Amino acid sequence: MNNAAQRTSEEVMILDSVDRFLERDVRPVARDLEASDTYPQSIVDRMVELGLFGATIAPEYGGLGLSASTYATIIERICTVWMSVSGIVNSHLIMAAAVQRFGTDEQKQSYLPRFASGELRGGIALTEPDCGTDLQAIRTRAVRDADDYVVNGAKTWISNSAEGGILAVLVKTDPKAEPAHRGMSLILIEKGPGFSVVRKLDKLGYRGIDTAELVFEDCRVPRTSLIGAQEGRGLQQILAGLELGRINIAARGVGIARACLDESIAYAQLRRSFGKPICEHQAIQMKLADMATRVEAARLLTESAAQAYDSGERCDMEAGMAKLHASEAAISNSVDAMRIHGAYGYSREFNIERYYRDAPLLAIGEGTNELQRIIISRQLIERNKV
Ligand SMILES: Cc1cc2nc3c(=O)[nH]c(=O)nc-3n(C[C@H](O)[C@H](O)[C@H](O)COP(=O)(O)OP(=O)(O)OC[C@H]3O[C@@H](n4cnc5c(N)ncnc54)[C@H](O)[C@@H]3O)c2cc1C
Repeated sequence: MNNAAQRTSEEVMILDSVDRFLERDVRPVARDLEASDTYPQSIVDRMVELGLFGATIAPEYGGLGLSASTYATIIERICTVWMSVSGIVNSHLIMAAAVQRFGTDEQKQSYLPRFASGELRGGIALTEPDCGTDLQAIRTRAVRDADDYVVNGAKTWISNSAEGGILAVLVKTDPKAEPAHRGMSLILIEKGPGFSVVRKLDKLGYRGIDTAELVFEDCRVPRTSLIGAQEGRGLQQILAGLELGRINIAARGVGIARACLDESIAYAQLRRSFGKPICEHQAIQMKLADMATRVEAARLLTESAAQAYDSGERCDMEAGMAKLHASEAAISNSVDAMRIHGAYGYSREFNIERYYRDAPLLAIGEGTNELQRIIISRQLIERNKV
């Protein structure tokens, strides 16, 4: 595993530039952009320069080719400052992973260099107004017409869809297939006629990044847009990509949980009550200890999932455990941080209320935590057959 002790000098340099980028370009503007729900274009421009849109794309296509472990460390560091920034690369890199793993040679040559350079950015469109967890119930339909597919349907909660130029869209190519996943495919759709962004959604947290509702109306794309050129593989392809997505979510959880801890450790030494700093009250000490333990456990699970991903093993259970634990750690730590900060935790002038609003998304996105528990227990049985 490329953990802290084993990083190459190139990885160390990349992490140092990410730290400088966060301090110079993100921290000073995060609160204002978040409050006004403004897309952080100048931050995105810097991410393009840093090569972050190609973080996990292979160097032969112009990417940085980073291990999942180093990628997770970058995401953790970003999320100690502003979680929304991590989402701008997350679904873009899940889309890229699907093309890199399952795409035809022509698709890799055509798309991956543009994804890596950030010239063409996007995400994944799976969720529909009537279904999210139960993806086999999607209704968006792609019908073959000579050398094209004609796509009709609606998607919602799609990140990077208003500002991005392309999406990997999960569709039904054979709605009668049994089991249903055999009739599901993943198609790359660039912005163009028949693809409309209906409205940007207003969210509790995770603001700044565009999350929108989409409609496809007789949207015509060439047949070569089907990832891998063979119909019926879409669910499998996206689930493989979601392993990386769940490691990203776990790393976000570590980042938020750590930010809550670090700010609480500092505040608890400055704030005084009954003649002493509040860190000398045992009730506060208990909270700090629990918060720190959650951060460490979440980081270890995330590293272990990233290690399994990097070795090419199936890692849905490991990524699920990391995502489940780290997201719950972020939620718990944001509540504890708010209590330690008292009224200031409730103020828009401190970061704690933002962590408290951002953290719950981690229990929903990339598969809810209920779904992660189902995945984990299915794998426990599968791997321990009697
Ligand atoms: C800010 C934000 C950004 C998002 N970005 C994207 C994106 O870029 N692309 C995309 O495709 N989607 C995106 N999503 C959607 C997200 O992936 C879905 O919200 C998520 O998969 C859950 O689906 P749902 O909201 O339809 O909940 P539902 O599937 O309706 O579930 C509702 C509740 O029932 C539970 N449940 C459902 N089935 C079961 C079961 N079998 N057993 C036990 N419990 C169950 C769920 O865990 C949940 O608690 C985003 C969502 C948000 C909030």
